[in-house]
Parts: sequence; C-alpha cells; structure tokens
Amino acid sequence: LSSRASTILHALDIRSDSELAGVYDGEWTGSGEILESVCPTTGEVLARVKSATPAEVERALERSREAYKVFRTVPAPKRGEILRQIREALAAKRDDLGALVSLEMGKIRTEGEGEVQEFVDIVDYAVGLSRMMNGRVVASERPGHSILEVPNPLGVVAVLSAFNFPVAVYGWNLALSLAAGNATLWKPAPSTPLCSIAVTKIVSSVLEKNGVPGAVAGLVTGGKVVGEAVVGSSDVDMVSFTGSEAIGREVGKVVQSRFGKVLLELGGNNAAIVMPDADLNMAIPAVFFGAVGTAGQRCTSTRRLYLHSSIVQKFLSRLESLYQSVRPGDPLDRSTLLGPLHTRAAVGIYHDAVDHLLKTGAEILTGGAPYTDLPAPLNGGNFVRPTIAIPQEVNVKDPVWSTETFAPVLKVGVFDELEQAIEWNNGVPQGLSSSLWTRDIRNVGKWIGPVGSDAGIVNVNVGTSGAEIGAAFGGNKSTGWGRESGGDAWKQYVRWSACTLNFSDEAPLAQGVQFSN
Ligand code: NAD
Repeated sequence: LSSRASTILHALDIRSDSELAGVYDGEWTGSGEILESVCPTTGEVLARVKSATPAEVERALERSREAYKVFRTVPAPKRGEILRQIREALAAKRDDLGALVSLEMGKIRTEGEGEVQEFVDIVDYAVGLSRMMNGRVVASERPGHSILEVPNPLGVVAVLSAFNFPVAVYGWNLALSLAAGNATLWKPAPSTPLCSIAVTKIVSSVLEKNGVPGAVAGLVTGGKVVGEAVVGSSDVDMVSFTGSEAIGREVGKVVQSRFGKVLLELGGNNAAIVMPDADLNMAIPAVFFGAVGTAGQRCTSTRRLYLHSSIVQKFLSRLESLYQSVRPGDPLDRSTLLGPLHTRAAVGIYHDAVDHLLKTGAEILTGGAPYTDLPAPLNGGNFVRPTIAIPQEVNVKDPVWSTETFAPVLKVGVFDELEQAIEWNNGVPQGLSSSLWTRDIRNVGKWIGPVGSDAGIVNVNVGTSGAEIGAAFGGNKSTGWGRESGGDAWKQYVRWSACTLNFSDEAPLAQGVQFSN
C-alpha cells in the first residue's frame, strides 16, 4: 500500500494487510463476496472487504430487532447523551476520517472534512432534539377527554447510501434514528466500504462503552443482492434510500408492496438561473463550484445554467477562464480543486454524455476530452476535464436536459424572460435543488412562490450545491419527495399514535353518535 494510504488507514485503526470483516451486528463478521476498495485517484487497491452473505444479513436483521427492543426503553435524553459522546468521538477523528473520504471516494480534502463536519453537526442537532421530540395535546370535543399525539420509536431503520457521500448521508439518518430510539442497519455503497467500517468502529465503541447493544448501529456491506435482501425484509420498518432514480424506483415499489415506510433521496438535475441584475462576482464562482466541485458528483451539482441573453458573453468568458485554470490533482493535497471521478464506469458515462452532446450539434465551449498528460500515479486515476456545452436549443424533454449525468458536464441555455427560465427549471423530472441570481426583490418573490421553482431546495444568490443541516433536505418529483436532516425530518423516524384519554365518568361517542335506546 502507498504510504499515504497506510497512514490514513492506520490512524483509523483499519488493517488492510488481510481481508477485512464487512459486517457488524455487535460482532465483526463477514464471509461473503469480496469487495475491493479502489482509490479513484491512482487505481490502487486499498483493501479487500468480506461482504455479507444472505445468512449474515438475516442475522444482522435479527440482532437489529433485538437491539431495538432494548434501545426503545432508554429515555430519549439518555439517548441524547450517547449521541453527545458519538459527536465527540467523531470530532476527534474528523481530519483522519475526512482524509479517508478523500482517499476512497475521491473528493478533495476540504470537502472530505466538510462531510465529517456535517455528521458532527447533525449529531449536535440530534442531541438537542432528544429533549424536544415532542408530541401534542389536541383539544377534544368530548367533556373530560384529552387527545395526545404521541411519538414512539419506530423499529429498525435501514439506510442504503450512495458512494458520493459515504459518511454524511448515513450521519443524517443515524443521528435522527438514534435520537428516535431505533436500531439502524447501514448498507453502504459497495465501492466505499472502508468509510463505513471506520464510521461503524467509531460509533460502536461509544455504544459498547455505554452498555448498549452494538446492533443499534449495525453494518452490512455488499452490493445489489445485499441491498435487495435488506429492502425486501419485513423486519425493516423504514428504508431510507439515497441513490439513483433507477434503483430508487425499484426500492420504492418493493417497500410499498410490503407496506413499509420509505424515504427516497434520488437524483438531481439542478439549474442555476442568472438575471441581468445579478452580482456576477458572486454568481460566477458559485456556478463554478456548483458544476466543478466534487468533480460534478453531488446530487446538488449544477447541471444546467440558464443565462439572461444580455449577460451571456460576459458570464461565459469569465466562467471559461475559471474552468481553464483548474488542474486535476491528488484530492489529499490541499491545493487541489479537481479530484477524480469515483469509478472507471463514471468516466465512460462522462464520455457518452459528451459524445451525445456533440452528435446533437452542441458547441463544447471547454473540456470534453480526457487528460492525456497526467504524471504517475495520477495517470491511473479517473480524471476528466470539466465541460461546458451549449446545446442547439433548450428542449427539457430531450435527454440532454432531462437526465442527470453524474460528472462535471454543464449545459447552458439562454433566455429573455424569467418566466421562460422557470419553466425550463421546472420542466425536468427531477426536483432537488435550484438557484436564482438576482438583486430584484420582485424576481425573488416570483421564484420562491407558487409560480416559482418546484424543487425541494430553492436558493437565492446561493448556488445549488452545499446545504446546511438545519433545514430539511430533499427533493420533489423523481428525486423522491424524501426529507432528511433538519426541519421536521425527524417526524418520519418515529411511529405516531393518536391516544384519546377519558377522565370522565361517561363514555360518549365522537360526533354525538348515540348507540343506545
Ligand atoms: P446507486 O443507485 O447506484 O446505489 C445506491 C445504493 O443502492 C448503493 O448502496 C447500492 O449498492 C444499492 N443498490 C443497488 N441496487 C440495489 C437494489 N436492487 N436494491 C437495493 N439496493 C440497491 O447510486 P450511486 O451511484 O451510489 O449514487 C449516485 C446517485 O445518488 C446519484 O443519482 C445522486 O444524485 C444520488 N444521490 C442523491 C442524494 C440526495 O440526497 N437526493 C444524495 C447523494 C446521492
């Protein structure tokens, strides 16, 4: 193993000289198919992980259920105290874990650390929440009666996560699920097993110290087969799935067909709209970060840019210079802004998208070709040139505009009226993030109101990418309507009961119904 990789793994207590156990249900096991963790920057194999067999998935589910039965009786503020300790343990490993995210997923250092910070932030939030997960008292129409709306722990929550946020997405779910008193079982992306093992080690050490069963935060690594086993199991009360629209559609159907709860966080196809009065000194760097940051591998990455006709030339020439200034590099090096794509397959998807743009007559303003001159070991990595393309027309029904390409390919369209740009913004199947750049309050009112953006995230003078944990995060339409993280998202992780209590000496029926002569 290269010395940079061994230093990072060593700091997180991961020994990669033998095959690693990829299942945790209170004990570390794993005897299934081997998953290889491949460094996207160099192609180096970082470790081999033994994923879960069907029998191990079943046992993990049983242990999760047993753990839930213990954990649901722990008072919520006491669960909050355990969360506080998890927060401390994560914060102590923030830099090492952030470096592992960069090493294994490929995002740059500041973003890797930012992702762990997001986990720390949501755990902080959940500590507070553990004393505020309140129900309500509702006025009853019957004398001597009270109605309570009561939240109780839900059961077992399965979290299936995507490769591009190998730490934070689990964090959003785990924090709320633990605060709510559930057991959580994590099925991470098969290409980022080391991040999930490192996180599970940190969390389980705190659980063990507190005498809580480790299966309160279990882990089953694996691919499609393990994912299907978890999703299809009636031992799972809620499935929180983050990933592509194609897989999310199948997962949604399976969970629905067994009447389980499902929370879907699927693909985005996010647009930024720039008005003539926008502050371009803010808008141009924000679009650059939105489209090129994380090498275009965020669900909230800017994929579509709609420019007012009066600023097109100015905007694009400045944006193009930023694109040309960016150099690919090792994401662990703090000066790097552009890391690799996560897999070889993603490079193929990038090339297909560029080919399709060329075939349909788009102008490629910059990018579109691979890097051919990278020195070793970066020549073993999945680096692609960030690309700006101007298709011949904006037709939101055309796949060029209507599908999410998970790579740094930005498409540009030109409009004259805000209404036209909003129609384009809303015309695609997805509805995750959106951004308007303007200093005119009238545009703002339109954008955030009933005739405005139909996305779950509607920003003004803020890019599409990079959300805080305080508000509920998620998208509408084919993004799945799920909400995670802050706001009211916690309400999905509990089971609600309406409890009518009668303190009177009579038993009247509701609506004055009489059932006696
Ligand atoms: P993916 O859909 O390929 O995989 C997601 C997860 O599903 C993985 O853990 C995978 O192993 C598992 N899986 C695959 N087949 C399965 C099946 N048949 N049944 C159950 N599970 C199965 O997604 P990806 O390529 O890892 O991630 C990229 C996608 O995720 C993009 O579309 C991106 O926009 C989306 N994403 C969305 C959000 C959000 O919050 N909306 C956040 C991050 C990523």
